[in-house]
Amino acid sequence: ILPQKSIDEVSQEVRRWALEQRGEIELLQKNEQFRKEFLMNLAHELRTPIFTVQGYVHTLLNGAIDDASVNRKFLSNATKGIQRLVQLADDLDQISKLESGKIPIIQESFVVQELIRDVYEELMLKARERNITLQIKKGTESPITVYADKQKIKQVMVNLVENALKYGNDGGTVTAGFYQMDEGHVYVEVSDDGPGIAEQHLPRIFERFYRADRSRSREIGGTGLGLAIVKHIVEAHGQTVNVRSKLGVGSSFGFTLDKGKS
Ligand code: ADP
Repeated sequence: ILPQKSIDEVSQEVRRWALEQRGEIELLQKNEQFRKEFLMNLAHELRTPIFTVQGYVHTLLNGAIDDASVNRKFLSNATKGIQRLVQLADDLDQISKLESGKIPIIQESFVVQELIRDVYEELMLKARERNITLQIKKGTESPITVYADKQKIKQVMVNLVENALKYGNDGGTVTAGFYQMDEGHVYVEVSDDGPGIAEQHLPRIFERFYRADRSRSREIGGTGLGLAIVKHIVEAHGQTVNVRSKLGVGSSFGFTLDKGKS
């Protein structure tokens, strides 16, 4: 005959089971909340550029097409709205692939400064438009080899440097630097001397569609997904992202990487 469980033991088991169920339900509710917020945000993000395109096309059809002084400008503005939709579709595609684990992380050894030079070269024109100087932090010029997915880390750097250029002040400076954290890790950082981000926004800045300054960010033209993509890529490497910022002083975004074999 099996030993009978005492009433106390049974009630403890029931309580534990109930707690587990509650945890599961809370997680489901949280996921459902995330999903709803995501769809709401997405609808909002789609609406802005669609209205822009619609507005210009209607005005052109209603007669502006015959006015040579404005028709080019209106068409070019409509194109900007379309470009923004394309960017949004690309970013969403990338995020969903990253989230479903469809894009494998293919790691290799490479020199991180070389990657930075590539990214800087790609963004040189954008920097020039704002008269912003792109530089590598003094003392961190000597080659450091890391072990990571080169293409994806390039995307991380492009997103961070693009943000520094978008939000930075005209005539400012963007600096990329590298720090040896411990035997096996390097910390890569992109800093700007732009407007900075208020402290209350920092914990949420890597969330999809989260923006510190909604109207300003939309005007500047981002999709609100750049930092979410950064976080995904870095975490898919088993590494961490970090932000430090002070209003009126600037922002520094950084992430850890495994050191490679040089
Ligand atoms: P967005 O497409 O709006 O730039 P991101 O995910 O790249 O989306 O960034 C989220 C928000 O973080 C931005 O809208 C902006 O408010 C803030 N942000 C990001 N980088 C910087 C920066 N270097 N300086 C100031 N604010 C920044």
